[in-house]
Amino acid sequence: MGRAIFYYSAETSWYDFGADHPFKPERSQKTFELCHRYGLLGYPHTSVKSPSPLERKYLLFAHSNEYLDAVSRVGRGEIFEDMLRFGIGSEDNPPLKGIYEWSRRCAGATWEGIVTLLENEADVAFNPLGGFHHAHHSQAEGFCYINDLVIAIREALNRGARVTYIDIDAHHGNGVQEAFYGEDRVQVISMHESGRYLFPHTGYADETGEGKGKGFTVNIPLPPKTDDELYLKAFYEISLPLIKRFEPDILVAQLGADTMISDPLTDLMLTNNSYIKMIDELRKTCQKILATGGGGYDIYRTARCWTLAWAVLTGLDPRDEFAGLVGGMMFGPEMEVGSLYDYPYSVKGPDKEKARQEVEKTLAFLSHQFHL
Ligand SMILES: [Zn+2]
Repeated sequence: MGRAIFYYSAETSWYDFGADHPFKPERSQKTFELCHRYGLLGYPHTSVKSPSPLERKYLLFAHSNEYLDAVSRVGRGEIFEDMLRFGIGSEDNPPLKGIYEWSRRCAGATWEGIVTLLENEADVAFNPLGGFHHAHHSQAEGFCYINDLVIAIREALNRGARVTYIDIDAHHGNGVQEAFYGEDRVQVISMHESGRYLFPHTGYADETGEGKGKGFTVNIPLPPKTDDELYLKAFYEISLPLIKRFEPDILVAQLGADTMISDPLTDLMLTNNSYIKMIDELRKTCQKILATGGGGYDIYRTARCWTLAWAVLTGLDPRDEFAGLVGGMMFGPEMEVGSLYDYPYSVKGPDKEKARQEVEKTLAFLSHQFHL
């Protein structure tokens, strides 16, 4: 098993978007604590690193100067009319003090992760506080200000690597898609709840890239009530064979956990059983993986997902080191089922048949489109 690096800083996980805002950076702290509790850190091949803020010259890989100026001003506590032009000042993207510095640190972890992989210092890098896939070139969107993924992928391209980006967040990875829509050295795959039902209302199956990038963007929109079985069907029939065909040097995986059945913002009905199965397949398919967090608004379930993701990526078996201790640390998330793994769940009846029909139609279209 190769070296694996977990990027974590207590300080960045305490950053607060506000009590009413669904995005809770503390998920990364919960994940870190669970990884610790389940004995998934502290091996010779694992290490924990605190990221540094990313320099501006790298932020420019994904964003315009004027946009970065705006985020920086907002971060200093300035409120100005023009910020709305940059998507800042909405309910989703409030003008948060410190947002520029915080985003630079989140992006710093993702960037350090890809560089570490590219320089063969590690095989796995995980940044639970990364994966801001909605941020545009000059606009904040969907809780995302700085697109750490686009920056990291550009760094990989600059160093001559071929990259597959796979996004299993419940929302379409629109910011990453648009950055590489005309690029044939990056394969962008997004599996998500269809834009017909969910923000950002893009990511339809016929969005497949343009120019020399034609055929390198893959969108798999899924209907509400898609469960593990149907999601895995899409993964095995479309995503996995396309990744194998592309043969990337590096895989960048946005592991948003808002696909889970209990997520308050989406309508997909997954459990972490399918989630970790996919991560295991990805691990077997590409030797180098940069994994990031993403969405996930049921905090505890998200922390369980990411703990299991880290276990799979590092080849470790999670064991509760506190089990059986009277008065031992009681940690909310796994108590629901007494383990990190969810109970299996499948949608039944007419809901399932409706979802199945829609998924099969989409997969047939994609199989034809991509000659599978
Ligand atoms: Zn999401």
